[in-house]
Amino acid sequence: MKILSFLINKMRMTGIYQPVIIKHLLLKGGTCSVNELANTLTKYDAGVIEYYEKIVMRYPKQTLTKHGVVEYDRKEKSFKLLDMPSTKAELKESLDICDEKINEWLHNREMENDPDATPSLRYEVLRKAKGKCELCGIPSSLAPLEVDHIVPRSTAKNGLVKKDGKMIPLNSEENLQALCFRCNRAKRDSDSTDFRTRKKLVRDNIPAMIEAEGRIPHVKELTGKNLWSALCDKLVEEHAEFLEDGDVSELGDMIEVITALAEQKGVTQQELLAIVEEKRMKNGGFERGYFYAGDKQ
Ligand SMILES: [Zn+2]
Repeated sequence: MKILSFLINKMRMTGIYQPVIIKHLLLKGGTCSVNELANTLTKYDAGVIEYYEKIVMRYPKQTLTKHGVVEYDRKEKSFKLLDMPSTKAELKESLDICDEKINEWLHNREMENDPDATPSLRYEVLRKAKGKCELCGIPSSLAPLEVDHIVPRSTAKNGLVKKDGKMIPLNSEENLQALCFRCNRAKRDSDSTDFRTRKKLVRDNIPAMIEAEGRIPHVKELTGKNLWSALCDKLVEEHAEFLEDGDVSELGDMIEVITALAEQKGVTQQELLAIVEEKRMKNGGFERGYFYAGDKQ
């Protein structure tokens, strides 16, 4: 494909991505690593830039002005290095030291702080989670899972956090859980809910079956709002299981949960089936596979 013809006639944009990537490839003589392209995209993300502008103004500005290394010009909104090296050799040495310090920091972070970067720990957390998000249950085959600190890093002192009344290392397995990208983003930084010990709704006969095995189940009977929200969570859990293995029995579980939800709304199973039938008569089912993509002009 001729690049001009693509740019002028063919390119349909759903985001800024295509022109940014093509522009960068053009500037770099045609070849570029994925990492470099990803970096370039972040430069167009207003949210990311705003975030780092705040960071620049908060930490480096304070510390570097205090030590007389930089000066901040309010009017120009710019930084000025007060002792700009006057020789090439001094400039090169300064740059080399910066690189060295940056790499040292990144390396240490990888080794000690970032659970995602410590392969064996990451493996252990994902294995215990059975490869599923511990909040919504989505399997790792459908959404990338991240290893999340239960008690957040921001509350750590000397690498220790307080969990259930005792101090434990920030990066100990006890303080790590597997969450999908979406759940992890939705979780606020101040939230320290341990989703691994999440209790769940079970079918009515399960407690008796556990007792028959000689175990003593810890069971609480939910009603009202609590039952409603547990049923909603259950539907998501069954849906995630269905997405994972496509097993029809999982659809049966979903119908059971849906029936229970209807009952909570005062609608019997018969009445629910009547609603299903009525809708089918009026609007049809999904047998044809019609996929509607808006109106043609
Ligand atoms: Zn999730």
